[in-house]
Amino acid sequence: MRHRLFMLPIVISLCIALAGCSDLESSHDAQEYMITNRVPIVVSAGRNVYDNGLVYHQGSIAMFLDFATMQSMPICNKPNCTHSDSTCVAKSCVANTNTIEPIIYHDKIYYFTSTNKIVDADDGKSQSFSIHSTCFCSNIKTGETEAFLQFDNYDPTGSVNSVLIDSKWYFIASDDNAYRRNDGSWSYGMGGKQYLCCIDLETADFQNYGLVNDSPFAEYNNIREGNYTGTFNAQVMIEGVYDNKIYMYYQYVTDQNELINVLESSENPLQAVWTDVPWIYESKVYDIETHSLTTSNDPTRAIINSDYFVYFDTELECYRELKDESESNLAGFRESWSPKIVNGKLWNLRKNENETPQVYDFATDEITNIQSMYTTYDSNIYACYDDKYIVSYIDENKQQKYAAVPEYELIGDTK
Ligand SMILES: [Zn+2]
Repeated sequence: MRHRLFMLPIVISLCIALAGCSDLESSHDAQEYMITNRVPIVVSAGRNVYDNGLVYHQGSIAMFLDFATMQSMPICNKPNCTHSDSTCVAKSCVANTNTIEPIIYHDKIYYFTSTNKIVDADDGKSQSFSIHSTCFCSNIKTGETEAFLQFDNYDPTGSVNSVLIDSKWYFIASDDNAYRRNDGSWSYGMGGKQYLCCIDLETADFQNYGLVNDSPFAEYNNIREGNYTGTFNAQVMIEGVYDNKIYMYYQYVTDQNELINVLESSENPLQAVWTDVPWIYESKVYDIETHSLTTSNDPTRAIINSDYFVYFDTELECYRELKDESESNLAGFRESWSPKIVNGKLWNLRKNENETPQVYDFATDEITNIQSMYTTYDSNIYACYDDKYIVSYIDENKQQKYAAVPEYELIGDTK
């Protein structure tokens, strides 16, 4: 059986580590710029597409690639800033989070920190776990930073994706998976009970819309005893916004032994835990108009971009598009790690032993194999700006490069 390709935070983290190695000084530009939002924007680990540019990491600094100039610079417009210490917003906004990326809204950067501690009860007989989280707001132009909003009991810093719709920033916050062991010590970390929360960036109003991973089986992702203690694939994922709903999913096993057996019998448990465990994926949707959070029958791990909802059908072994309650096959578009919908087309630019660079046109139903200098083992496509596609690829020196490319040049030799 061919192993399914999978989207996983580990690979995403790797992408962050590999992102951009060019000299910071040479890319530092004194010019001032604005970063403007598309709505909604889905912010994920790695690189995030705004209307006029891409926000990504370069080491421990948040950078902005301006689509108009294809120049990169730290997301900091503070005059004379050297972008080298914690007073620089481009550094501080990515310093304290596990996963969640900062979001830029009206020339301000919003980001989270979270701390936790064990609190003794007044009578000394019991303990509880407490979480305190802060949403900071930094001005890109002045570097001025303020604690915009504080809240307790929920930690947003492990949220893999978040969504900004108008002024509302939706994200996943967890109870830090806090657990008191029999010997009285505490364990905590990723996973745990996870809630869809929202901050209104205009009013500083905080809302918790409810528990997402509410299956009683979700607890089985945490192995508390034995050789493989830990938390496995327990993160709730936000996939995107479609039809005025935020799509999310999480995964679980109905019998924890199925997970333990795979971990214990595999040469490469970290990979096997993704591919060989009989995970059940549960879809959750939050309706933005009715504020209801419900379980959905729609497929999970979808590729969602405004008007498009595409998923890989594992039985038919092909991508399918959900549209107006009907479905159509994208037969011939081969499974790939993370295809993207840009400009009404589904793209995969990655070329390796499992993946074939292709483009599918939703308007004509046509699939084209593509072959150009931009199709490499680690290529990606982000946006269409000014009639050019913004892509990243690996050059002959194994460096990652960004380019703005017209379609004919990106598709190249189609033979
Ligand atoms: Zn700076």
